[in-house]
Amino acid sequence: MQAKYSIIVPMYNEEEVIGHTYTKLKEVMDGYGESYELIFINDGSRDRTVEIVDGICRNDRNVRLINFSRNFGHQIAITAGMDYAHGEAVIIIDADLQDPPEVMLQMIEKWKEGYEVVYGKRLKRKGETAFKKLTAMMFYRTMRSMTNFDIPMDTGDFRLIDRKVCDVLRGLKEKNRFVRGLVSWVGFKQTMVEYVREERFAGETKYPLKKMISFALDGITSFSYKPLKIATYIGFALSISSFVYLMVVLVEKLFTNATQPGWTSIVATNLLFNGIILILLGLIGEYIGRIYDESKNRPLYIVRETQGFEREDRKQDIGVEREREYVR
Ligand code: UDP
Ligand code: MG
Repeated sequence: MQAKYSIIVPMYNEEEVIGHTYTKLKEVMDGYGESYELIFINDGSRDRTVEIVDGICRNDRNVRLINFSRNFGHQIAITAGMDYAHGEAVIIIDADLQDPPEVMLQMIEKWKEGYEVVYGKRLKRKGETAFKKLTAMMFYRTMRSMTNFDIPMDTGDFRLIDRKVCDVLRGLKEKNRFVRGLVSWVGFKQTMVEYVREERFAGETKYPLKKMISFALDGITSFSYKPLKIATYIGFALSISSFVYLMVVLVEKLFTNATQPGWTSIVATNLLFNGIILILLGLIGEYIGRIYDESKNRPLYIVRETQGFEREDRKQDIGVEREREYVR
C-alpha cells in the first residue's frame, strides 16, 4: 500500500543525530496514525550515517534510503527525495532536529484544509551564531529586492507540498536548484505555519561560508538577471558625469592656457567611450538574460486542475510528465 505522507530527510555527516531524528519522526508520525514513509537521502556522508540508517531500514518497513555516490549538496538531495516520494503529501525536514517534527502535524492540518504548499516560517532562530543570522537576513532581503515574485522571508526548506506541486517540481529540469525559490515560483495555494527554529541537536552546521555563498548565488541567479543590468546602470551614470566633465575640459582648452597639447583629445575620447562601452555591455547582458531565461526551459504556465476533460487531457496539466522509477 502506498504511504499517504512522504517525509524527506537529507543527511550529510549526521551520525550524531540521525538515530535520534528517526526516533522522533517515527514517534510523531506513529502517533498521528496515518500511513507514512521516511525517505533518508545520504548526500555522500563520510561518517557512519549510512550504516546507521541502513540498520534502521532493515527493521522498519516505513523507512527508505537513497544513497548518493558523493556529496551533491542539500538542494539536490531534496530533489532526489521528491523524485522517489510516493505520498499524497510530501514533507521536507532537516536531519538535525532544528525543524521540530511536531510542526509537521500542523502542516498536515493545513494541507487537509486545502492548502497545497505549507511552509514553515522561522519566528526565532535559536543557538545560531550572530554571523549566520546576519548573513541569512541579508540574503532574504537581497533575494526579495532582486526577484520579481514573492519568496517568503525567513523560511527554509522545511515545508509540506502536495502531490501536484511535487509532480510539477519534478518536471523542472534546471541544474542549479534553489528549491524554496522554485516552490514559490510554481504558485498554488500557499500558506505558512510559524515555528521557533531549535538549536542543532548535535553535530555542527554543514553549511560553511563557502556553501552559503554558492547557495545565495544559485538563489539569486536562478531567479533574477538584475546583476547583468548593473553594467547598464553604471554606464548611464558614467556617461552623464563624463559628459559634464567633457564640457569642463573643452572650456579649459578653448578659454585657458592650462592644458598640455594632446591632453584634451585623450581625455575626451576616454570619457566618451567608457560610458558607451558599459552601456553596450549592459545591452548584451539584457540579451544574455533572456537567453538564460529561455534555456532554463521552465514551462510557461502550470495548471492546478482541470474539470470536465477526458482523462487523456489531464496529463497536460503539469508541463512535463516523467516516468516514475521505484525504489523498491
Ligand atoms: N545537508 C546535505 N548536504 C550538504 C549539506 C547539508 O544533505 O552538503 C543536509 C544536512 O544534513 C541537514 C540539512 O541539509 O539535514 C541542513 O544542513 P545544516 O543543518 O547543516 O544547515 P543549517 O541548519 O546550519 O543552515
Ligand atoms: Mg541545521
